[in-house]
Amino acid sequence: MNGKVAVITGSTSGIGLGIAERLGAQGCHLVLNGFGETEQIRALQHRLKETYGVQVSYIPVDLSVPAQSSQLITKAEDEFGHVDILVNNAGIQHVAPVEDFPIDQWQKVIDINLTTPFALMKAVLPRMRERGWGRIVNIASVHGLIASAQKSAYVSAKHGLIGLTKVVALETARTPITCNAICPGWVLTPLVEKQIQERVAVSGRSFEEEKKALLLEKQPSGEFASVEQLGGLVVYLCSPDAAQIRGAAMTVDGGWTIQ
Ligand code: NAD
Repeated sequence: MNGKVAVITGSTSGIGLGIAERLGAQGCHLVLNGFGETEQIRALQHRLKETYGVQVSYIPVDLSVPAQSSQLITKAEDEFGHVDILVNNAGIQHVAPVEDFPIDQWQKVIDINLTTPFALMKAVLPRMRERGWGRIVNIASVHGLIASAQKSAYVSAKHGLIGLTKVVALETARTPITCNAICPGWVLTPLVEKQIQERVAVSGRSFEEEKKALLLEKQPSGEFASVEQLGGLVVYLCSPDAAQIRGAAMTVDGGWTIQ
Protein backbone atom coordinates (compact mmCIF):
# COMPACT_ATOMS: atom_id res chain seq x y z
CA MET A 1 0.00 0.00 0.00
CA ASN A 2 3.09 2.22 -0.02
CA GLY A 3 2.36 5.53 -1.74
CA LYS A 4 -1.39 4.97 -2.14
CA VAL A 5 -3.52 8.07 -1.55
CA ALA A 6 -6.22 7.67 1.09
CA VAL A 7 -9.03 10.14 1.79
CA ILE A 8 -10.62 9.54 5.19
CA THR A 9 -13.63 11.72 6.04
CA GLY A 10 -14.05 12.79 9.65
CA SER A 11 -10.46 11.88 10.48
CA THR A 12 -9.71 14.63 12.98
CA SER A 13 -10.98 12.45 15.84
CA GLY A 14 -12.35 9.07 16.86
CA ILE A 15 -12.60 6.18 14.42
CA GLY A 16 -11.49 8.22 11.40
CA LEU A 17 -8.26 9.16 13.12
CA GLY A 18 -7.67 5.51 14.12
CA ILE A 19 -8.11 4.52 10.46
CA ALA A 20 -5.76 7.29 9.28
CA GLU A 21 -3.10 6.08 11.74
CA ARG A 22 -3.29 2.50 10.46
CA LEU A 23 -3.26 3.51 6.78
CA GLY A 24 -0.36 5.88 7.48
CA ALA A 25 1.53 3.01 9.11
CA GLN A 26 1.14 1.12 5.80
CA GLY A 27 2.75 4.01 3.91
CA CYS A 28 -0.42 5.61 2.52
CA HIS A 29 -0.43 9.35 1.93
CA LEU A 30 -3.28 10.76 3.97
CA VAL A 31 -5.98 13.31 3.24
CA LEU A 32 -7.54 14.31 6.55
CA ASN A 33 -10.93 15.97 6.84
CA GLY A 34 -13.19 16.99 9.72
CA PHE A 35 -13.64 19.74 12.27
CA GLY A 36 -11.14 20.92 14.85
CA GLU A 37 -8.94 23.77 16.07
CA THR A 38 -6.43 24.90 13.42
CA GLU A 39 -3.45 24.49 15.76
CA GLN A 40 -4.49 21.01 16.85
CA ILE A 41 -4.96 19.90 13.25
CA ARG A 42 -1.56 21.32 12.27
CA ALA A 43 0.01 19.42 15.17
CA LEU A 44 -1.82 16.24 14.10
CA GLN A 45 -0.60 16.60 10.50
CA HIS A 46 2.95 17.11 11.74
CA ARG A 47 2.81 14.10 14.07
CA LEU A 48 1.42 11.75 11.39
CA LYS A 49 4.00 12.98 8.85
CA GLU A 50 6.90 12.46 11.29
CA THR A 51 5.65 9.10 12.59
CA TYR A 52 4.88 7.43 9.26
CA GLY A 53 7.01 9.38 6.74
CA VAL A 54 4.01 10.03 4.47
CA GLN A 55 2.42 13.18 3.07
CA VAL A 56 -0.47 14.42 5.19
CA SER A 57 -2.89 16.92 3.76
CA TYR A 58 -5.92 18.49 5.46
CA ILE A 59 -8.91 19.47 3.32
CA PRO A 60 -11.55 21.14 5.51
CA VAL A 61 -14.67 20.60 3.38
CA ASP A 62 -17.86 20.68 5.46
CA LEU A 63 -19.67 17.46 4.53
CA SER A 64 -23.07 18.59 5.81
CA VAL A 65 -23.87 19.95 2.33
CA PRO A 66 -23.80 16.90 0.03
CA ALA A 67 -23.89 19.00 -3.17
CA GLN A 68 -20.59 20.60 -2.17
CA SER A 69 -18.92 17.63 -0.51
CA SER A 70 -17.42 16.27 -3.76
CA GLN A 71 -14.98 19.20 -3.54
CA LEU A 72 -13.10 16.99 -1.09
CA ILE A 73 -12.35 14.55 -3.93
CA THR A 74 -11.57 17.19 -6.56
CA LYS A 75 -9.22 19.00 -4.16
CA ALA A 76 -7.50 15.73 -3.21
CA GLU A 77 -7.12 14.83 -6.91
CA ASP A 78 -5.73 18.32 -7.63
CA GLU A 79 -3.15 17.83 -4.90
CA PHE A 80 -2.17 14.17 -5.39
CA GLY A 81 -3.33 13.47 -8.96
CA HIS A 82 -5.74 10.72 -7.89
CA VAL A 83 -7.38 8.98 -4.93
CA ASP A 84 -6.82 5.23 -4.35
CA ILE A 85 -8.73 4.71 -1.11
CA LEU A 86 -11.89 6.45 0.10
CA VAL A 87 -13.11 5.87 3.64
CA ASN A 88 -16.56 7.37 4.25
CA ASN A 89 -16.39 7.73 8.00
CA ALA A 90 -17.74 11.17 8.99
CA GLY A 91 -21.03 10.79 10.78
CA ILE A 92 -23.29 12.39 13.35
CA GLN A 93 -25.99 11.14 15.68
CA HIS A 94 -29.18 12.65 17.11
CA VAL A 95 -31.20 10.83 19.75
CA ALA A 96 -34.93 11.49 20.24
CA PRO A 97 -38.23 9.63 19.82
CA VAL A 98 -39.84 10.02 16.39
CA GLU A 99 -42.57 12.37 17.68
CA ASP A 100 -39.94 14.79 19.05
CA PHE A 101 -37.33 14.36 16.31
CA PRO A 102 -36.80 17.74 14.58
CA ILE A 103 -37.07 17.34 10.81
CA ASP A 104 -33.98 19.48 10.21
CA GLN A 105 -31.99 17.11 12.47
CA TRP A 106 -33.34 14.17 10.46
CA GLN A 107 -32.13 15.85 7.25
CA LYS A 108 -28.71 16.63 8.73
CA VAL A 109 -28.14 13.04 9.85
CA ILE A 110 -29.27 11.67 6.46
CA ASP A 111 -27.13 14.20 4.57
CA ILE A 112 -23.85 13.55 6.37
CA ASN A 113 -24.26 9.80 6.96
CA LEU A 114 -25.79 8.78 3.62
CA THR A 115 -26.05 11.43 0.90
CA THR A 116 -22.47 12.68 1.29
CA PRO A 117 -20.98 9.15 0.99
CA PHE A 118 -23.05 8.80 -2.21
CA ALA A 119 -21.68 12.12 -3.54
CA LEU A 120 -18.09 11.17 -2.65
CA MET A 121 -18.33 7.73 -4.27
CA LYS A 122 -19.86 9.31 -7.37
CA ALA A 123 -16.92 11.73 -7.50
CA VAL A 124 -14.14 9.22 -6.82
CA LEU A 125 -15.21 6.33 -9.07
CA PRO A 126 -14.38 7.76 -12.53
CA ARG A 127 -10.67 8.22 -11.75
CA MET A 128 -10.51 4.87 -9.91
CA ARG A 129 -11.95 3.16 -13.00
CA GLU A 130 -9.46 4.99 -15.24
CA ARG A 131 -6.53 3.85 -13.07
CA GLY A 132 -7.91 0.33 -12.62
CA TRP A 133 -7.72 0.10 -8.84
CA GLY A 134 -9.65 1.38 -5.86
CA ARG A 135 -10.90 0.63 -2.39
CA ILE A 136 -13.99 2.18 -0.83
CA VAL A 137 -14.83 1.46 2.80
CA ASN A 138 -18.02 2.85 4.30
CA ILE A 139 -18.21 3.08 8.06
CA ALA A 140 -21.80 2.05 8.73
CA SER A 141 -22.80 0.66 12.15
CA VAL A 142 -24.62 -2.19 13.82
CA HIS A 143 -27.46 0.27 13.27
CA GLY A 144 -27.17 -0.50 9.57
CA LEU A 145 -28.29 -4.05 10.41
CA ILE A 146 -30.62 -3.67 13.37
CA ALA A 147 -32.37 -0.82 15.17
CA SER A 148 -32.37 0.94 18.52
CA ALA A 149 -35.15 3.18 19.80
CA GLN A 150 -34.70 6.96 19.43
CA LYS A 151 -32.27 6.73 16.53
CA SER A 152 -34.66 6.93 13.56
CA ALA A 153 -32.51 9.08 11.28
CA TYR A 154 -29.24 7.32 12.12
CA VAL A 155 -30.70 3.81 11.71
CA SER A 156 -32.30 4.82 8.41
CA ALA A 157 -29.08 6.41 7.13
CA LYS A 158 -26.90 3.43 8.14
CA HIS A 159 -29.32 0.87 6.65
CA GLY A 160 -29.23 3.00 3.50
CA LEU A 161 -25.43 3.11 3.53
CA ILE A 162 -25.24 -0.68 3.58
CA GLY A 163 -27.67 -0.87 0.64
CA LEU A 164 -25.65 1.74 -1.22
CA THR A 165 -22.44 -0.23 -0.53
CA LYS A 166 -24.00 -3.30 -2.16
CA VAL A 167 -25.08 -1.32 -5.25
CA VAL A 168 -21.59 0.16 -5.72
CA ALA A 169 -20.05 -3.29 -5.18
CA LEU A 170 -22.25 -4.69 -7.96
CA GLU A 171 -21.52 -1.79 -10.30
CA THR A 172 -17.76 -2.33 -9.80
CA ALA A 173 -17.86 -6.13 -9.59
CA ARG A 174 -15.96 -6.67 -12.87
CA THR A 175 -13.21 -4.23 -11.87
CA PRO A 176 -10.38 -4.23 -9.30
CA ILE A 177 -12.36 -1.69 -7.28
CA THR A 178 -14.07 -2.99 -4.16
CA CYS A 179 -16.67 -1.38 -1.92
CA ASN A 180 -17.46 -2.72 1.56
CA ALA A 181 -19.00 -1.56 4.81
CA ILE A 182 -17.86 -1.95 8.41
CA CYS A 183 -20.44 -2.13 11.19
CA PRO A 184 -18.98 -1.16 14.56
CA GLY A 185 -20.78 -1.68 17.85
CA TRP A 186 -19.88 0.69 20.69
CA VAL A 187 -16.51 2.42 20.28
CA LEU A 188 -15.52 4.97 22.93
CA THR A 189 -15.21 8.18 20.86
CA PRO A 190 -16.54 11.76 21.31
CA LEU A 191 -19.78 10.66 19.52
CA VAL A 192 -20.48 8.02 22.18
CA GLU A 193 -19.15 10.09 25.10
CA LYS A 194 -21.87 12.64 24.23
CA GLN A 195 -24.53 9.90 24.45
CA ILE A 196 -23.15 8.76 27.83
CA GLN A 197 -23.26 12.38 29.09
CA GLU A 198 -26.92 12.60 27.97
CA ARG A 199 -27.69 9.47 29.99
CA VAL A 200 -25.85 10.91 33.03
CA ALA A 201 -28.00 14.05 32.78
CA VAL A 202 -31.18 11.94 32.92
CA SER A 203 -30.15 9.30 35.50
CA GLY A 204 -27.90 11.34 37.79
CA ARG A 205 -25.50 8.38 37.92
CA SER A 206 -21.75 8.77 37.34
CA PHE A 207 -20.14 8.76 33.88
CA GLU A 208 -18.40 5.44 34.69
CA GLU A 209 -21.67 3.82 35.80
CA GLU A 210 -23.50 4.96 32.67
CA LYS A 211 -20.60 3.85 30.47
CA LYS A 212 -20.80 0.33 31.91
CA ALA A 213 -24.60 0.25 31.65
CA LEU A 214 -24.55 1.40 28.02
CA LEU A 215 -22.07 -1.34 27.10
CA LEU A 216 -23.83 -4.14 28.96
CA GLU A 217 -27.26 -3.34 27.50
CA LYS A 218 -26.08 -4.20 23.98
CA GLN A 219 -22.53 -5.51 23.70
CA PRO A 220 -22.12 -9.04 25.14
CA SER A 221 -18.31 -8.79 25.37
CA GLY A 222 -18.76 -5.89 27.82
CA GLU A 223 -15.86 -4.14 26.07
CA PHE A 224 -15.64 -1.32 23.56
CA ALA A 225 -14.25 -2.03 20.10
CA SER A 226 -11.16 0.14 19.59
CA VAL A 227 -10.35 2.62 16.84
CA GLU A 228 -7.13 0.64 16.22
CA GLN A 229 -9.12 -2.55 15.59
CA LEU A 230 -11.32 -0.72 13.09
CA GLY A 231 -8.23 0.75 11.42
CA GLY A 232 -6.81 -2.78 11.17
CA LEU A 233 -9.93 -4.01 9.37
CA VAL A 234 -9.78 -1.11 6.89
CA VAL A 235 -6.14 -2.02 6.14
CA TYR A 236 -7.20 -5.62 5.53
CA LEU A 237 -10.06 -4.57 3.21
CA CYS A 238 -7.55 -2.50 1.23
CA SER A 239 -5.11 -5.42 0.91
CA PRO A 240 -4.85 -7.88 -2.02
CA ASP A 241 -6.21 -10.66 0.24
CA ALA A 242 -9.54 -8.84 0.38
CA ALA A 243 -9.92 -8.41 -3.40
CA GLN A 244 -12.93 -10.76 -3.52
CA ILE A 245 -14.70 -9.30 -0.51
CA ARG A 246 -17.38 -7.25 -2.22
CA GLY A 247 -20.43 -5.53 -0.82
CA ALA A 248 -19.90 -7.05 2.63
CA ALA A 249 -21.12 -5.51 5.88
CA MET A 250 -18.54 -6.67 8.44
CA THR A 251 -19.39 -6.39 12.13
CA VAL A 252 -16.91 -5.37 14.84
CA ASP A 253 -19.42 -5.30 17.65
CA GLY A 254 -18.43 -7.55 20.57
CA GLY A 255 -21.35 -9.83 19.65
CA TRP A 256 -24.10 -7.15 19.63
CA THR A 257 -25.81 -8.44 16.48
CA ILE A 258 -25.57 -12.20 17.17
CA GLN A 259 -28.17 -12.08 19.93
P1 NAD B 1 -16.56 11.34 16.21
O1 NAD B 1 -17.62 12.31 16.59
O2 NAD B 1 -15.46 11.05 17.14
O3 NAD B 1 -15.91 11.75 14.83
C1 NAD B 1 -16.67 12.17 13.77
C2 NAD B 1 -15.77 12.86 12.78
O4 NAD B 1 -16.60 13.38 11.73
C3 NAD B 1 -15.01 14.05 13.36
O5 NAD B 1 -13.72 14.10 12.78
C4 NAD B 1 -15.84 15.24 12.92
O6 NAD B 1 -15.09 16.43 12.81
C5 NAD B 1 -16.31 14.75 11.56
N1 NAD B 1 -17.49 15.44 11.08
C6 NAD B 1 -18.70 15.57 11.69
N2 NAD B 1 -19.49 16.36 10.94
C7 NAD B 1 -18.79 16.71 9.84
C8 NAD B 1 -19.04 17.52 8.71
N3 NAD B 1 -20.21 18.15 8.55
N4 NAD B 1 -18.07 17.69 7.78
C9 NAD B 1 -16.86 17.08 7.93
N5 NAD B 1 -16.57 16.31 9.00
C10 NAD B 1 -17.50 16.14 9.93
O7 NAD B 1 -17.37 10.01 15.82
P2 NAD B 1 -16.92 8.49 15.68
O8 NAD B 1 -17.52 7.75 16.81
O9 NAD B 1 -15.45 8.38 15.44
O10 NAD B 1 -17.75 8.09 14.39
C11 NAD B 1 -17.17 7.87 13.13
C12 NAD B 1 -18.12 7.02 12.31
O11 NAD B 1 -18.30 5.76 12.93
C13 NAD B 1 -19.51 7.64 12.14
O12 NAD B 1 -19.99 7.42 10.84
C14 NAD B 1 -20.35 6.85 13.14
O13 NAD B 1 -21.70 6.80 12.78
C15 NAD B 1 -19.67 5.49 13.06
N6 NAD B 1 -19.91 4.64 14.22
C16 NAD B 1 -19.45 4.99 15.45
C17 NAD B 1 -19.70 4.14 16.53
C18 NAD B 1 -19.21 4.44 17.92
O14 NAD B 1 -19.56 3.68 18.84
N7 NAD B 1 -18.41 5.46 18.14
C19 NAD B 1 -20.40 2.95 16.33
C20 NAD B 1 -20.86 2.65 15.07
C21 NAD B 1 -20.60 3.49 14.01
